Amino acid sequence: MIHFIGAGPGAADLITVRGAELLRHADVVIYAGSLVNPALLENLKPRCEVRNSAFMTLEDVLSVMEAAHRAGKDVARLHSGDPCLYGAVREQMDALDARGVPWDVTPGVSSFCGAAAALGAEYTLPGVSQSVILTRMPGKTDAEHLRTIAASGVSLVLFLSGGMADAVQTELMQSGAYVPATPAAIVYKATWPDERIIRCTVGTLADAAKSAGIRKHALILVGDFLGASYERSRLYDPSFTTEYRKGAS
Ligand code: SAH
Repeated sequence: MIHFIGAGPGAADLITVRGAELLRHADVVIYAGSLVNPALLENLKPRCEVRNSAFMTLEDVLSVMEAAHRAGKDVARLHSGDPCLYGAVREQMDALDARGVPWDVTPGVSSFCGAAAALGAEYTLPGVSQSVILTRMPGKTDAEHLRTIAASGVSLVLFLSGGMADAVQTELMQSGAYVPATPAAIVYKATWPDERIIRCTVGTLADAAKSAGIRKHALILVGDFLGASYERSRLYDPSFTTEYRKGAS
């Protein structure tokens, strides 16, 4: 069996209990390079085979998986955060299906949750935004894409874009939804010991990333959810009646 496992955002104790258990019993571990905390590889089975997928192609990964499965071994395929975001897992799952190799998925804490925790932020603030867009700065040929996506002005999380803060800033300004004063933040290595938080605005994003020397391992967060104003929730308002509680009139 192949187990796709979310390793969590960085801190070794942020893997799920199920993920840690599967990892501890795995005969083969294939982990996603620099974004998975090496401390997670400390309590493996004595003769566990460990591979870093940064040095492997999809074909390499698949042949290690298939050979292990045919030999009756369990494989832990460790992805950073949650496997369902920028994890390139679908192609592995489909190829395993085609080869008749069974797999399952154990979710993980995504880095966008780790970043919110680091900032003490809530993406979905009443009166501010009830939606979160998880996206990335696309390649040069389709750069308008981000400005279109950003036009709704909701809470925005950009993966894989730390090294492109200047282009991100331009796109956000072109979106029409954010102004130079709209709050933004860069969270580098959320939940790792060397985590860094850089608070800025849309207008200072590029300079902030440059002077902090941020290129990778970072998320860019944008939106008024990082600001000071919001409405309190009706759910916990004394005058609001819910299924569980009668409100005072
Ligand atoms: N599946 C992962 C994302 C993998 S893509 C998840 O759910 O988080 C890799 C990108 O994720 C990085 O370029 C960076 O933008 C972001 N990332 C992953 N871990 C991070 C962390 N601890 N802090 C900040 N960004 C992180």
